[in-house]
Amino acid sequence: MLLLFCIAFVIFTTKIFAEVSPLVVYIDPGHGGMDGGASIGEVKESNLTLEISKKIKEVFESNSIQVVLTRETDDDLSDGSFVKREDMLNRVTQINTSNASLALSIHLNKFSMEKYRGAQVFYSKTNSNNQLLAETMQTSLSLYLKNTERKIVKRDNIFLLNKVTIPCCIIECGFMSNKEEFQLLQTADYQYKIAYALLYGVEDYLKLY
Ligand SMILES: [Zn+2]
Repeated sequence: MLLLFCIAFVIFTTKIFAEVSPLVVYIDPGHGGMDGGASIGEVKESNLTLEISKKIKEVFESNSIQVVLTRETDDDLSDGSFVKREDMLNRVTQINTSNASLALSIHLNKFSMEKYRGAQVFYSKTNSNNQLLAETMQTSLSLYLKNTERKIVKRDNIFLLNKVTIPCCIIECGFMSNKEEFQLLQTADYQYKIAYALLYGVEDYLKLY
């Protein structure tokens, strides 16, 4: 009788735990500290990726998805003097040792020709779900931002994509080199729009996965 009670208790508490345990998504605001990434005038990619990532955290958390950021300030993740490899290794370790279900690394594009614009998703084959995640995120970005017919691109030479073992992709939110898009990327409205596009993408991915 006691054994039956114990088994019932374990099943009950496991179910409760499963119901209250929220989905965790890791968001990596690209660059930071000494590495500002791309820049136009005074505006650095690292500042915009952080602003967009904070909006993502706000929007996801108001929709019951817990978000952990690899950085919450403009500092990089190396100890002391900036070392790019150490910064990247720390991001990878944080993500791989977390209980997150997936990770999105947030970046912005810059190109020599102004005409290019639109969001684009990059992935690698490190995790077998990466392509599905990338396709779902690209579809959602295209649908909600309505500014691109870009397709996902597989890349084998990106450290983060090669080392992160949970489902992961890089989101290039838009081109800083396109004047109109650069203005949009700096507004809170558009940053929220990106955050919602990513939320709907994650929700769609979870239905397919
Ligand atoms: Zn970047």
